[in-house]
Amino acid sequence: AKDAGRGTCSWYEPALRERIEHRFTVGEELRHALSKDEFVLYLQPQVDGNGQICSFEALVRWQHPQRGLILPGEFIPVAEENGLIAELGDWVLNHTCLLMAQHPRLHCSVNVSVRQFLHPEFLDRIDSLLRDHEIGASRLTLEVTESLLIADFEQVALKMQSLQQLGVRLSIDDFGTGYSSLVYLKRLPIDELKIDRDFVRDLPGDTSDASLVVLILAMARHLNLSVVAEGVENAEQAEFLRQHGCHYYQGYFYGRPQPIDSWLEVMDH
Ligand code: C2E
Ligand code: CA
Ligand code: CA
Ligand code: CA
Repeated sequence: AKDAGRGTCSWYEPALRERIEHRFTVGEELRHALSKDEFVLYLQPQVDGNGQICSFEALVRWQHPQRGLILPGEFIPVAEENGLIAELGDWVLNHTCLLMAQHPRLHCSVNVSVRQFLHPEFLDRIDSLLRDHEIGASRLTLEVTESLLIADFEQVALKMQSLQQLGVRLSIDDFGTGYSSLVYLKRLPIDELKIDRDFVRDLPGDTSDASLVVLILAMARHLNLSVVAEGVENAEQAEFLRQHGCHYYQGYFYGRPQPIDSWLEVMDH
C-alpha cells in the first residue's frame, strides 16, 4: 500500500485539494467583496526624465475585513478563472474615472483583462464613463497584455481602432514576456509599451537583459511608441534606461503604489 508511486500521489493530492478549496473560498469571498465594496485603488506614479509625475497606474487592493490588505496576485488569477474579473475590472475602471473627475489634472493607466476587453459592452462603457464625467479621453490609458493579441485578431484590431477614435491611449503591458510580434505592433493602434520589470531588475549588469531592453527601446523609437520601464528600483537602472532613450519610468525608486490621499499634495502643483 505504500509503494513509491502512490506515496508520491498522496503526497500532492491534499495540497491540490487545499488549493482548489482555497480558490473556491476566495472566489466566494470575492463575490461578497464586490457587493460590499471592499476594494481600494492604489496609485503608482509614472515619471518623465526630469522626475516629474506624468501619470499614475491604478492598482487594485482588497481591503479584507479580517485578513487586511490583500495584493492582486492573490485574487486576480481567481477572478480570471471564475469570470468575476469583468466585474472587478469594471469596478476599477469606474473608480479610476471617479478619481479623474475629481482631479482634473490626473492621468491614469488601468489594467484591462482579456475578458473585460472582449466584453461586447466594453467600448460603450468607456465612452459613457468619459462622457458622464467629462474626462478628456487622452487622460486614460488602457493597459492590455500580449495575451489579448493572440485572441481573435480582427475583433481586437477593430475594438482598438474604435478606442483610438474615442481618444483613449493603448499600452501593451509586460511587453516582451508574451507572444507579440512586430506585425501586431505595426498593425494595431498602440501608443505605448511597458517594459516588464523582469527585464529591468538586473540592469545594467545582465548583458542579455540589457541588449533586449536596448532593442525594445530602439524598436519603439522607430515605431513612434512611448515606453514606460516598470520596476525601476535604483538610479543605475534609471540611468541605463535614460541613456538608451527611455522616456518614462515607474517603480519603487520613484514611488510605491499608495492611496490617492498620499499623492494629492504632489499632484495639485
Ligand atoms: P502589473 O500591471 O505589471 O503592475 C505592476 C506591479 O509591479 C504592481 O504589483 C506594482 O506594485 C509592482 N511594482 C511596481 N514597481 C515595482 C518595483 O520597483 N519593484 C517591484 N518588485 N515591484 C514593483 P501589484 O500592485 O501587486 O499588481 C500585480 C499585478 O496584478 C499587476 O501587474 C496586474 O497584472 C494585476 N493587477 C493589478 N490591478 C489590476 C486591475 O485592476 N485589473 C487587472 N486585470 N489586473 C490588475
Ligand atoms: Ca499594468
Ligand atoms: Ca506591467
Ligand atoms: Ca509586470
